[in-house]
Amino acid sequence: MNKAIRRFKWYDFLWIWSIVYFALGFFNIMFAWLGMIDFLVPIVIAAIKGDKFFCNKLCGRGQLLHHIGTTCKCSRNKPTPRWMVSKWFRYGFLIFFLAMFGVMVFQTWMVASGAASLKEAVRLLWAFDVPWGWTYRGGVLPDWVAQFAFGFYSIMLTSTLIGLVVTVLFKPRSWCVFCPMGTMTQLICRLRNRSALKRAEASDGAEAVPEGAKDAVTGSDTEASSDQDAIQPIRQESAEQS
Ligand code: SF4
Repeated sequence: MNKAIRRFKWYDFLWIWSIVYFALGFFNIMFAWLGMIDFLVPIVIAAIKGDKFFCNKLCGRGQLLHHIGTTCKCSRNKPTPRWMVSKWFRYGFLIFFLAMFGVMVFQTWMVASGAASLKEAVRLLWAFDVPWGWTYRGGVLPDWVAQFAFGFYSIMLTSTLIGLVVTVLFKPRSWCVFCPMGTMTQLICRLRNRSALKRAEASDGAEAVPEGAKDAVTGSDTEASSDQDAIQPIRQESAEQS
């Protein structure tokens, strides 16, 4: 019993943070800003380390979906559809996601410039406005700060809802296959490792090549490598279950 407990690391419990985040946003929308941690940390780690440490260890949402699907047995555990794993869908969803993020930033700018008034609502699935006014009581901060919070919380809630649906329908972490953050960090890792490899080649091997860089950027199966990395969490999960 004790042996099992000692195996856990502090980051194994970050799924609790995901629940706390949405709970806080239910009472005060300003806590939505804390979601920027989940937005920036994976990008910084991918840019500095050139790997997906965040996805593999630190992502509370990925852990939460895993527990809902596996621990709580709320997943049909069916294979993730091939079209969902395909490159066009993953990159297409990333472009769509970034476009929606841009719209959210534009709305924030409209409020900041006085061209629009604050909308105290959470937009679900980019289409349905749900009144959320009780979470904001005004204050010393300008309205655009709250507008960004409503918009960011909308994105976080929408992506989690989609993640829950595909968790129930398919494998517990099917969301990770096309998660925009996962796709984005994957691209950053590939770019970073490619430039590191080029630098190493230019310096005739004097400069250390990051571990995995060659695998990530060489060979005819570069895209296949990317696909494999994208579904890595699911593969890990399958391994755990077997
Ligand atoms: S792919 Fe997305 S949800 Fe999955 S672990 Fe990475 S950041 Fe988290």
